[in-house]
Amino acid sequence: MRKHDFGNWAQGVTSIVQPSPDASGGHEHYRLRIEGLGVGTWDLDLATRELEWSDAARTLFGLPPGQRVPYDAFLAPLEPKDRERFSQALKRAIDGCCGFDLSFKVAAGNGRGQWVRARAGVIRDEAGEPRHLSGILLDIGEEKQLEETLLTRESHLRSILDTVPDAMIVIDGCGAIQFFSTAAERMFGYSEHEAIGRNVSELMPEPDRSRHDGYIARYRSTSERHIIGIGRIVTGRRRDGTTFPMHLSIGEMQSGGEAYFTGFVRDLTEHQQTQARLQELQSELVHVSRLSAMGEMASALAHELNQPLAAISNYMKGSRRLLAGSTDPNAARIETAMDRAAEQALRAGQIIRRLRDFVSRGESEKRVESLSKLIEEAGALGLAGAREQNVQLRFRLDPQADLVLADRVQIQQVLVNLFRNALEAMAPSPRRELGVTNSRAADDMIEVAVSDTGTGFPDDVKANLFQTFFTTKETGMGVGLSISRSIIEAHGGRMWAENNDAGGATFRFTLPAAPNES
Ligand code: ADP
Repeated sequence: MRKHDFGNWAQGVTSIVQPSPDASGGHEHYRLRIEGLGVGTWDLDLATRELEWSDAARTLFGLPPGQRVPYDAFLAPLEPKDRERFSQALKRAIDGCCGFDLSFKVAAGNGRGQWVRARAGVIRDEAGEPRHLSGILLDIGEEKQLEETLLTRESHLRSILDTVPDAMIVIDGCGAIQFFSTAAERMFGYSEHEAIGRNVSELMPEPDRSRHDGYIARYRSTSERHIIGIGRIVTGRRRDGTTFPMHLSIGEMQSGGEAYFTGFVRDLTEHQQTQARLQELQSELVHVSRLSAMGEMASALAHELNQPLAAISNYMKGSRRLLAGSTDPNAARIETAMDRAAEQALRAGQIIRRLRDFVSRGESEKRVESLSKLIEEAGALGLAGAREQNVQLRFRLDPQADLVLADRVQIQQVLVNLFRNALEAMAPSPRRELGVTNSRAADDMIEVAVSDTGTGFPDDVKANLFQTFFTTKETGMGVGLSISRSIIEAHGGRMWAENNDAGGATFRFTLPAAPNES
């Protein structure tokens, strides 16, 4: 290697190899020292393209020591695009605009490339003509590996953040958005590009919008937590100005001495709609079950009162006959009064019958309905808390037997009632499984079976299950099953129950299949 004035090296390199002001062997001394550290040195004569390099530099290129390597052979193990970059960097360095600094991969004999960084400076003669390119070669394999690991991690993180339904937004200590995930783009209507740099307060409506900077400042001065680490339901504002309910949780982190806040946002619009729908459904069900319970009671009352009313009417008729021979001056008036009383007894019977008809004809509205949807909705209502009670739900629904002609609310009432009964019957059981299946039955009917692993019922109970006011529960009303059966029969179906061989009960009912299915 020639002796150079290392002071001419490009910026950056000079700091590694400052010339020694002392003895003449100083440069060689430095060279050996950096060689020992695995740093190679190289020198390219720009006129002759003759290349000189140290043993350490050869090792980096996977070449045996001592061998002469022409410039072209030096470029050969580089990838074509790197060769191109190399000659461009060389040109720029010669033009004097910058030092030479290039990282590239050297294809080694075993196929695995070695990452090398070449840094150099142009050495000029007295006339300012470029004579040499002289510098060092560094093994940057470790840095590259670290960089690749970081890139892989970042791309993993990116892909996770791209797929989680929750939006993620990172802001700095001034509220400026630093990161805006794909879900955030969807939720708020801004692209990542537009969002970055904006104040996060733009994603909220007033009054939070104008107060948010103050919230951050207050937190940073007092460390008093209002939302950080707690999570709350707040209102978000989309780009078009519309607002939506969202759940926000915020985490805090320090990076490079700066504070950052990470917000996770879940859009609650759908959740609230579902809640509202469930509430609506529940109130519809309550309404209908009151009506049905009234109908059921009216029919039971009519049945019970019919006999006493008929007896009253008969007694009246008998008494009237006895009065016929009487000479009492009031006889005629008593007769009229008795006729009136008999009429009223008949009327009482008619009123009860009319009430029963009115209620049982009810608001039944039959439409083509999807059983799976009915069952799913009824399950949301009737099976709330079932999982906490360790009940396993097995819904095996056949899509070929899905469409029925039914009054949605009434059939859901039947299902909710069956689900509730099943949960109650399974309370004492160690194994709790509730199954719902549907299948095609004869005569264009579809059969639904609700089975449980509960107590089942004794034979004497079986005969009375569907009787109005029959209950074995302390606080039971005993109207659920009788209403359910009336509803199913009003649909033209049948309802019955049986004990399972393996324990528990199965309640079945049929409904007419929707015409376009049959
Ligand atoms: P209630 O639930 O108010 O008692 P129901 O008409 O719904 O009224 O039920 C009547 C009776 O039928 C219950 O008291 C219970 O004895 C019996 N029963 C209903 N479902 C089941 C079931 N899944 N397993 C065992 N017994 C049941």
